[in-house]
Amino acid sequence: MECKFVPSVCSYCGTGCGILFQVVDGRLIGTLPMKTHPVNQGKLCIKGWNLHEHINSELRLKNPLIKTFGRFSRVNWDTAIRYTADRLQKIIKKHGPDSVGVLVSAKATNEENYLAQKFARAVIGTNNVDHCARL
Ligand code: SF4
Repeated sequence: MECKFVPSVCSYCGTGCGILFQVVDGRLIGTLPMKTHPVNQGKLCIKGWNLHEHINSELRLKNPLIKTFGRFSRVNWDTAIRYTADRLQKIIKKHGPDSVGVLVSAKATNEENYLAQKFARAVIGTNNVDHCARL
């Protein structure tokens, strides 16, 4: 059995507590507070203690869904990306880039959130971008 602790920063709010992800045989199983981190000094709130739980959740969506007439149907990534790009282009053409907003998630990585805000600003052309951790 291989056990390691991977240092990171909690992404659930703007406080930025230092954490250690507990990884056993390549599987993320826990989150611990980093005792030497200057922000939280060995403490976490309840959200931080549970930071790892969504990673292996059975409820996690693993495929894109498109809603048609009130019902979701599972589609492949190419279909979802083509559908989304087409819809965004039509909305932007008709109402302008500021008619679009991008809301990103603390359950995505920092790198994914960075890419999402870059996509909002550089591709769509709007500063309407927000994140639940700012609340
Ligand atoms: S959600 Fe809790 S543990 Fe995470 S950064 Fe904020 S205060 Fe720290």
